[in-house]
Amino acid sequence: MGDVVASRTSCRPAARLEAGEVRAALTREMIVEHFHIEVRGREDGWWRGRQCPACRKRWGSLAGSGFCIGQRGWVCKACSAKGDLLDLVGRMAGLNLGTHFTVVLSLAAALAGVTPDANPVMRASRRVELAKVELARRRAAAIAETQRRHEARQTARSIWDGQLTDHPSGRAYLAGRGLDAGALIARGAVRFCPVGWRPADQAGDPTVALYDWDGTVLSVVRRRIALDEPKAPGLTGHPADGTLVGHVGQITKAVDVIVTEGVVDSLTAALAWPHAVVLGAHGAAQLPAVVAGAAPRVKAAGGRLIIVPDPDQPGQDAAVEAARHALKVGFSLDRDLDVVELGAGRDLNAAWCAGWRP
Ligand SMILES: [Zn+2]
Repeated sequence: MGDVVASRTSCRPAARLEAGEVRAALTREMIVEHFHIEVRGREDGWWRGRQCPACRKRWGSLAGSGFCIGQRGWVCKACSAKGDLLDLVGRMAGLNLGTHFTVVLSLAAALAGVTPDANPVMRASRRVELAKVELARRRAAAIAETQRRHEARQTARSIWDGQLTDHPSGRAYLAGRGLDAGALIARGAVRFCPVGWRPADQAGDPTVALYDWDGTVLSVVRRRIALDEPKAPGLTGHPADGTLVGHVGQITKAVDVIVTEGVVDSLTAALAWPHAVVLGAHGAAQLPAVVAGAAPRVKAAGGRLIIVPDPDQPGQDAAVEAARHALKVGFSLDRDLDVVELGAGRDLNAAWCAGWRP
């Protein structure tokens, strides 16, 4: 009798979890609730969290946080670590997805309410259902993203138009960073914010435009004069995947194109290479995308591409990935591609202040 039960059991397919099924059912809401992650953000936008689970960096202000959780994955702008939501579950639980995949998958399944099902018919129909839901979600997300970008561009344009052309506090800040404000103003690279970041902050933060790929202003990024975080916030809810100071529409025949990171280094580049097009990335995480977007156009125009990364690890990693994009479209390190090494842990602005010139 016992033998019969045992043999019946062994004929039945084993109940198991499918990673695709769990991934499709898992949402960021479930993860945030389960791990009590402190976040801020709009329902359909990125959520910013207090502390990156990879580098452990904590942000004082959620608005300026670089730990971003999206609807399908997460990224840290400080250390460039990223992954999907399953990866985030692992990180939050202190487990490595690679070495503890099954444990992380079970945990995520429990959060998402996915139970192992031994019935192959049930499993197949559930997969079909989830695929339909996922397709609908992607379509809705694509439509929402297009609409959001359109609105962001309109708002950014009017905010950029409302920036001041000059301001004594902003000038003083730039001078303190070794930058000639007059030259930057004349070049149209910098403006100044008429209001402080917080109501109590002073006005005059230097601002630069973040341009979309067609040269339209997509956001306005300020370098705060105040010393606390966030250092260089863009407009809340606006995309960050454009280019600071210059845009790809400015690329003309045989022109040098400088890709660097951050507001101050982008402004420094505008002075260091006065005849070049400066494409600043809004953070190390954006640097590879800027190079990927610009490289084919620079190549077609017969120009040189000069990447000036930050000396920290995220900056160096981003530069390697960026250079790979350039090499893929035919750039060569001994001909038309340069990755500038400033040495001794210096960023471009520090090197500039110390007398370095290209
Ligand atoms: Zn991090």
